[in-house]
Amino acid sequence: MLIPFSPPYIDQRMIDEVVDTLRSGWITTGPKTKKFERELADYCGNQATLAVNSNTFGMEIVLRWFGIREGDEVIIPVYTYCATANVIVHCGATPVMVDVCPTDLNISIENIRKAITSRTKAIIPVDLGGLPIDYDELFSLVQSKEVRTLFSSITKEQELLGRILILSDSAHSIGAEYKGRKTGSLADISVFSFHAVKNLTTAEGGAIALNLPLPFDNEKVYQYLCALTLHGQDKDALAKTKKGAWRYDVITSGYKGNMTDIMASLGLIGLEHYEDEVLKIRKHIFDQYSAALIKYAWAELPVYETPDKKSSYHLYCLRIKGISEKQRDDIIQRIFDRDVSVNVHYQPLPLLTAFKDEKHPIEDYPVAYDSYCREITLPVWYGLTDEMIDQVIDAVVQSVEEVIGF
Ligand SMILES: *Cc1c(COP(=O)(O)O)cnc(C)c1O
Repeated sequence: MLIPFSPPYIDQRMIDEVVDTLRSGWITTGPKTKKFERELADYCGNQATLAVNSNTFGMEIVLRWFGIREGDEVIIPVYTYCATANVIVHCGATPVMVDVCPTDLNISIENIRKAITSRTKAIIPVDLGGLPIDYDELFSLVQSKEVRTLFSSITKEQELLGRILILSDSAHSIGAEYKGRKTGSLADISVFSFHAVKNLTTAEGGAIALNLPLPFDNEKVYQYLCALTLHGQDKDALAKTKKGAWRYDVITSGYKGNMTDIMASLGLIGLEHYEDEVLKIRKHIFDQYSAALIKYAWAELPVYETPDKKSSYHLYCLRIKGISEKQRDDIIQRIFDRDVSVNVHYQPLPLLTAFKDEKHPIEDYPVAYDSYCREITLPVWYGLTDEMIDQVIDAVVQSVEEVIGF
């Protein structure tokens, strides 16, 4: 039987909670979504959290709230999912891609420094695989006098912040820690994904964790973003059902991207068991893989714990030393032939048609390209048994050694 790569974890408690919502008479944004938002903010330690229909939508409305538009530049890692770049393009701005660090595949702060110009309005780092980036270093950079002087504000929000916005693409990293603090409380704003393959899922879904510094009032920003996710209405559907409260205003031409109570039902139960069950099991799987693979000279293991950081153990990104892209593809085929599903994270953006750019060819990103060529992501999910872990390890070891000739 084929071991899948990342099936969702759905148990009876989740099914019961969804059924409870279906029977309750209220299925769209309502009490369960609001409860999920409060519990997310409590878990992450940030000031206010807004649940939305995806990470992609969440990042896009944050960029729009901040006034990102044509002529602006937003710095992102070249080694990420296309969503990180797409949201910038949707706003008419330019994604400026930079290369990553060879050790942990996270965005290089030094490369960010070199890419900052007077047009830079935001940086979207990605906690790749679940490992937080160096947030202190990134904040020192954007708060430095040199970089602040370059920043020019056009909107009220940009003026209030007075510097480049740090919007974390935390699609992988809910529950991860940096210097004892959880993601969601590390950047100005962080956006989670609850897509079906992510650690915590609502089928589709996401959340915007607000942690803006003074003089911002995060509660007010939350209220405004709430409206922005509902056509700009100043009242949601539930508020309008209160006796006599039918009248509403539309404060801006908003978007539509709210979370439903059906989705939040999955999230509420998932979150209850996240820290003590899901993260523990994911860490156990990572530890088993590393303990077995460290014996092989060809294995370059992912970094998922450092003195300052703890991953959320989302992606186990293994690299094989000294192989070509073609050999990697051959190894992957042989692993599948042994009934184990694996994946590649990521194809650097310039390899994809939508992001090909003559001025910035793939040769400009040697670390990302080299890592991509040698990378294989192993399956990690709640329910993967020790026997299956052994099957994965055997399949990887045998396939690699057949191809590189041991
Ligand atoms: C999954 C993912 C996204 C998109 O999340 P959605 O909730 O599907 O919009 C964005 N960035 C990264 C790095 C991702 O892995």
